[in-house]
Amino acid sequence: MSQAQTKPNAPINVKLLLIGNSSVGKSSLLLRFSDEQWLPEDESSATIGVDFRVHKMEVKGKKVKLSIWDTAGQERFRTITSSYYRGAQGVILVYDVANKESFDALPKWFAELETYVSSAVVKIIVGNKVDKEFSRQVPASEGQAFATRMGALFVEASAKTAVGVADAFRDVVERILDTPELWAAPGLARKGSSAGAGRNATAAAERAMPGSIDLSKEPDEAEGGGCAC
Ligand code: GDP
Repeated sequence: MSQAQTKPNAPINVKLLLIGNSSVGKSSLLLRFSDEQWLPEDESSATIGVDFRVHKMEVKGKKVKLSIWDTAGQERFRTITSSYYRGAQGVILVYDVANKESFDALPKWFAELETYVSSAVVKIIVGNKVDKEFSRQVPASEGQAFATRMGALFVEASAKTAVGVADAFRDVVERILDTPELWAAPGLARKGSSAGAGRNATAAAERAMPGSIDLSKEPDEAEGGGCAC
């Protein structure tokens, strides 16, 4: 068990992942949420290259330390490694409301999740770029219906205008806090792990991840993010 988790007022460590097709705005959503930043389209390359961010928040009276992981472009090569999924309690599946193809790819992403994470892991579908209403290709009702079918939360958002972004992250964290098995015994969140694996296994998995951070450290020690640029 990590040191931070044994202290009475220690924050609950939550690992979130962003997945979805390339260019749907995963890095932009992360940057908007964690740094309240937006890089104009012409300044952001195909992928901004953020690996992860650590973000502290208080939800339902509980302190939460989020580590939010971005694919940093791995999906372009169809090589998201299983280690990316390890220990996740929540997954944010992103599509672009102005790109039907990115929405149609969601079942493929769900299939990947089935392989790597347990069904208890909280999923939220985010229809991003809602500021591009003029070129919308996916109605909100279609996104919502699909999310309901898949047992996922749903929100439309824009990393550009910030609309819906905080809601997306808050909704997923709230649902995770409503599912104590995910954070009271995080080992359960991983496919194929035994209930007894618990926190030690998760902490070991975190340490094993390339470029991973040690979440047992105090916030000042565990730096707020990484960059693959
Ligand atoms: P990723 O590959 O999924 O991480 O996508 P990026 O975050 O790198 O974004 C891809 C492109 O979409 C960049 O040019 C971004 O500026 C742009 N983008 C991201 N989010 C939004 C948004 O909410 N609205 C608009 N209009 N463009 C966005």
